[in-house]
Amino acid sequence: MSNKILQAVRGMNDILPDEAELWLWFEDLVRAWLESYGYRNIRMPLLEPTALFKRAIGEVTDIVEKEMYSFEDSLNGDHLTLRPEGTASCVRAVLQHNLLYNAPQRLYYSGAMFRHERPQKGRYRQFHQFGVEALGFSGPDIDAEMILMCARLWRKLGIRDVTLQINTLGDTAARQRHRAKLIAYFSQHTGVLDADATRRLHSNPLRILDSKNPAMQELIGGAPKLMDELDEEALQHFAAVQKILRQHDVAFEINTRLVRGLDYYNRTVFEWVTTRLGAQGTICAGGRFDGLIEQLGGKPAPACGFAMGIERLLALLQEDGMENPPAPLDVYLVHQGELADGMASVVAEQLRDAGLRVLLHCGGGSFKSQMKKADASGACCAVIIGDDEARSGQATLKPLRGGEQACVALGELPGKINGLTDSN
Ligand code: ATP
Ligand code: MG
Repeated sequence: MSNKILQAVRGMNDILPDEAELWLWFEDLVRAWLESYGYRNIRMPLLEPTALFKRAIGEVTDIVEKEMYSFEDSLNGDHLTLRPEGTASCVRAVLQHNLLYNAPQRLYYSGAMFRHERPQKGRYRQFHQFGVEALGFSGPDIDAEMILMCARLWRKLGIRDVTLQINTLGDTAARQRHRAKLIAYFSQHTGVLDADATRRLHSNPLRILDSKNPAMQELIGGAPKLMDELDEEALQHFAAVQKILRQHDVAFEINTRLVRGLDYYNRTVFEWVTTRLGAQGTICAGGRFDGLIEQLGGKPAPACGFAMGIERLLALLQEDGMENPPAPLDVYLVHQGELADGMASVVAEQLRDAGLRVLLHCGGGSFKSQMKKADASGACCAVIIGDDEARSGQATLKPLRGGEQACVALGELPGKINGLTDSN
């Protein structure tokens, strides 16, 4: 048997404790922000029937064609897929449990998503998202609310260099007309189309507009515009979204080439983009998907949602010089001597009863070596108990970020420590 240390799957990262502090801080902040808009949490399985994603996302999309972790369960032959995104699962859960029965729903979820992409900065095979879905809402007010919420989150996080791009994809009839015109147009220029575009010419010509191939940019620039096909109603919806954004001074660019990588979108789509993360600059993306609920077997109902990539957002914060928050620890409890050792765990429990976060030193060692560990722990203070202290019902309280140490009666420790943590 080899004794080589095994490695994680390529493109899937461990998040080590120092960095995990930042994740926890971020997740708490995001949850509070979501609750401030009345969104409620929903949790779905990581594995779903493969058919769900094929039906929801579309057969001719990057995700379904080449990014899904799909496999056959060798135990029962089921075709399963690790979720590449959350919207399909969320809608499946809502329909399965009939949550739209008498009221629309504002929902959010968070967790791991899986896509078999080429790993690089900001692009991983397991990555994490917060996803937000408003199901059963048809008006432009909810589209705008979602964008305004994002703007608030960026302000809360101190993120500045991020721009908002919006577009409208119209409704089915307009898209059909546009599709026919695109096929006609690209068919006249088959010499310029690359392999991907040729393959998509008849299956998903809209996605050709999304191509980043420099050799095709001129051709794409001259392609028929969906904007020219839009129905009055869709145009009014789009105008209303813009009006609300202007009312709130949220700057945006209309990017008519923004089509998004999933088939289910219609009408409003948006992306928040930064230039500071290289090619992986989209930190948050979403839009309306009025047809998806019906497509997944539900009674027709409109919907809108977005997802943000946690890795990319944290990378942006770190780029801005944000440091990992300190370890969440109030007390490092140092003890030595037979009597003191016996008492230390009792004192630690009492301090925890008082709401403090206490790391009880384990493994013995000299006062000096224990104090070194206390200094490195990030705790706000050390509580030191030797046999002398133990006999007199006292402890030495030593602030670790400046200040004089003092002898304190055990009963007064919590109050004194709280005084220290408050002033830090
Ligand atoms: P991209 O164009 O960068 O491939 P996408 O359009 O495929 O993104 P969405 O499906 O809209 O992405 O997912 C929403 C967000 O999730 C993205 O804006 C991004 O922040 C994040 N994201 C998507 N794929 C990855 C990945 N492989 N690794 C890390 N984050 C990702
Ligand atoms: Mg992608």
